[in-house]
Order: sequence, then C-alpha cells, then structure tokens
Amino acid sequence: MSISQKLAKTQSSLPKTVSLVAVSKTKPIEAILEAYKAGQRIFGENKAQELARKFKLLPQDIEWHMIGHLQSNKVKYIASFVTLIHGVDSWKLLLEINKRAAQNKRVIDCLLQMHIAQETTKFGLNESEIEAILKKEAKLENIRIVGLMGMASFTSEKTQIREEFSQLKKSFNKLQKEYPNLENLSMGMSGDYSIAIEEGSSMVRIGSAIFGSRN
Ligand SMILES: *Cc1c(COP(=O)(O)O)cnc(C)c1O
Repeated sequence: MSISQKLAKTQSSLPKTVSLVAVSKTKPIEAILEAYKAGQRIFGENKAQELARKFKLLPQDIEWHMIGHLQSNKVKYIASFVTLIHGVDSWKLLLEINKRAAQNKRVIDCLLQMHIAQETTKFGLNESEIEAILKKEAKLENIRIVGLMGMASFTSEKTQIREEFSQLKKSFNKLQKEYPNLENLSMGMSGDYSIAIEEGSSMVRIGSAIFGSRN
C-alpha cells in the first residue's frame, strides 16, 4: 500500500472528533509531501532540529507538532513556528518555551506529559506535579496549557495498555473541571490507538501505520 492509501485507511478508522498527527520522524521530505497531497496537514516530529529543517522545506500551511522529549536548549529551533508541543514534562522547560515564545511574539500551546507507563524510562509527571504546574501557569503569558499527553507501556498486554490510558483519562477529566483550557488528550500510537480512542483520546500520534516502519 502507498502512503496515501495507508493514510486514508488510518483516517477512516478514526472518529471525526479525533485529530490525527502524522508522525513523520526519520522520514524523507517526499514521504511527507505525499501525505500532504493526500490532504494531511498536521505532522509530528520528535527532534527539534529535524523539525526545523522540514518546516523550511515543506508547505507553510502545515501544522507542526513537537511530540517527543524536548530539551530546554532545543526550544529555540522551533519556537517561531511550532503549533503544539506535546511532551512538556517540567516547569523549567515551560519557562524556556515561554521565554522563546515571547521573543517571537507568540503564544505557544503545550500539553503536559503524564507518566502512565510501568517503564521508568518513559518521561512524564504525576498528577500532583501536573496540578502544581497548572496552578502556576497563569503567570506565563506566552504559553497556554491546552491538554495532557501520555504514552502507554510498550507491551502486548492489552488490558495493561487500556488500564494506563484509562488512568490518564480519569486524571484529565478531574483536572479539566478546574482548568477548562485542557481540551486535548493526546494518547495513542500505531500499535495502540484503537484502545486509546475507546478510552477517550482526542488526538492520536501515528507514524509507522502511515509511513511504514522506521530503521
Ligand atoms: C514515534 C512516536 C509516535 C509514533 O509511533 P508509531 O508507533 O510509529 O505510530 C508517537 N508518539 C511519540 C511520542 C513518538 O515518539
């Protein structure tokens, strides 16, 4: 199947309320253009410099999302154009995004990453750390926290994946009552997005199911 066929197949499996971030990390410009020509406009990358390079080479109406772990010293590469930063996992990083957004006279939307997986290697905050950040957030004029993001454990145990997404959704609902700006729940990748959607995801980040496997 071609990229445009796999994209169409993926899109047709999503409810209309769920937005699709096509994860194009490591993939060449031509592959992204093929998905663009088939109508896809939101793309996600996990490395700031690769994201900046692709932004320059591709159509300007693409919405670029930073989806992976972002180091503070890399924010400068993407602050002038990035639409949404998914994996914010510290106050320090948020301060840097705020500073770089101000330099570019922008407000940058961010998602806080919650740690839901059993693996300790995955990044993210717990619920009380998220609450503490949301309490202080209003002081930062150039960022807006618009939701949460999470990654389930890398396992074939579907019940465990479901449990982890369900836990994230519960925290999201609870926090949303007090912080109505939280509108987006980014969870689900190629291998687990159906479960994520059943558990309440509003945004899925799908790479290999569209572009094929990565090396
Ligand atoms: C690579 C990546 C994805 C997409 O993974 P696939 O399994 O290829 O769909 C989603 N989210 C993050 C944070 C990633 O780094």
